[in-house]
Amino acid sequence: MTSLPLTPVNLDAPARRAAMPPRHLADLDLAGRQALVAELGEPRFRARQVSTHYFGRLVRDSGQMTDLPAAAREKLTDRLLPTLLTPVRELTCDDGATHKALWRLHDGSLVESVLMGYPDRVTACLSSQAGCGMACPFCATGQAGLTRNLSTAEIVDQAVYLAGVAASGAVAGSPPRLSRVVFMGMGEPLANYNRVVAAIRRLVAPAPEGLGLSQRHITVSTVGLVPAIRRLASEDLSVTLALSLHAPDDGLRDELVPVNQRWKVSEVLEAAWEYAARTGRRVSIEYAMIKDVNDQPWRADLLGRLLAGKLAHVNLIPLNPTPGSRWDASPKPVEREFVRRLRDAGVSTTVRDTRGREIDGACGQLAAAEGDEIVAPGAP
Ligand code: SAH
Repeated sequence: MTSLPLTPVNLDAPARRAAMPPRHLADLDLAGRQALVAELGEPRFRARQVSTHYFGRLVRDSGQMTDLPAAAREKLTDRLLPTLLTPVRELTCDDGATHKALWRLHDGSLVESVLMGYPDRVTACLSSQAGCGMACPFCATGQAGLTRNLSTAEIVDQAVYLAGVAASGAVAGSPPRLSRVVFMGMGEPLANYNRVVAAIRRLVAPAPEGLGLSQRHITVSTVGLVPAIRRLASEDLSVTLALSLHAPDDGLRDELVPVNQRWKVSEVLEAAWEYAARTGRRVSIEYAMIKDVNDQPWRADLLGRLLAGKLAHVNLIPLNPTPGSRWDASPKPVEREFVRRLRDAGVSTTVRDTRGREIDGACGQLAAAEGDEIVAPGAP
């Protein structure tokens, strides 16, 4: 392989506080919303009414909230449901089964989310930060650096919007209900820990407090911030942890996932096994297959030895193209051999589909560029 310069990673880059958006009901639990409503001089039960519209009916337009007195509607929606995400563009591919949304935030930052429909489920892939500070060289989001953390409500609102898309029946061939969330969009979720965990609490709380998703159907994907993995294991949550490993050896992982310079493969796997033990949940090991970089048979064998007997599942991701990238996906026979060796070692392994590739909506392709020249695939 070609030798790469090591990219320094700055984990402590501060998010600009001033840029955070207005408070929204999804930032608060039900008690917090009731307190806010009381401050507005309204009866506390209005918090539940507005929450039912937002989380239960996926309605955010005050005109549709006819159970609220007309005089109070605007005041309540202005304070509880300020606009956080303005749609800039929506693209569809895979015959209507994949939708990518580009949003503008109140400070002009751009983020993306992706909705993927399958015959039995609908999955939303959410962003947790505008940009990303982790600098993985094969990921488009990593190239531009971190702009800022998203607020809890900016994260939750992506899911609520996409739940509305699903409910409208727009996801071809899928049930009209959002059932899963993966934190695999832009950003490193565990670098925005408190807001991401609060967002998960909203996503799993039953309506009207939250969206009522199952904890088991939420996946947090991380480059491997070891203290944050440990902290997540100690929350009373049993979400699935996905670890972006991409190399079984420190020499290569230091380059592909620069945070490895701080926490080594052995440390991050130890934290992952601790997570599995605490939650009883199988950890998903993510591994992008990069031609002649990390796809050698000996690396499959080494990975197999690291994972054998552990509560782990390997998800191989054919490398998705990113602008200016010097790397390609591994050829299919190489990928098959990699799978075979892992399975021979007793490690459960699957290859992820490349959903959303045509609309740059696949793993690692989210870069939130606003380009007028981009049109939906299939458009005339
Ligand atoms: N920061 C988190 C979540 C975002 S990325 C993380 O790294 O886990 C979601 C997954 O897509 C990660 O496993 C990431 O490594 C992978 N990915 C990034 N760029 C990719 C690319 N070009 N092709 C395939 N997978 C990629």
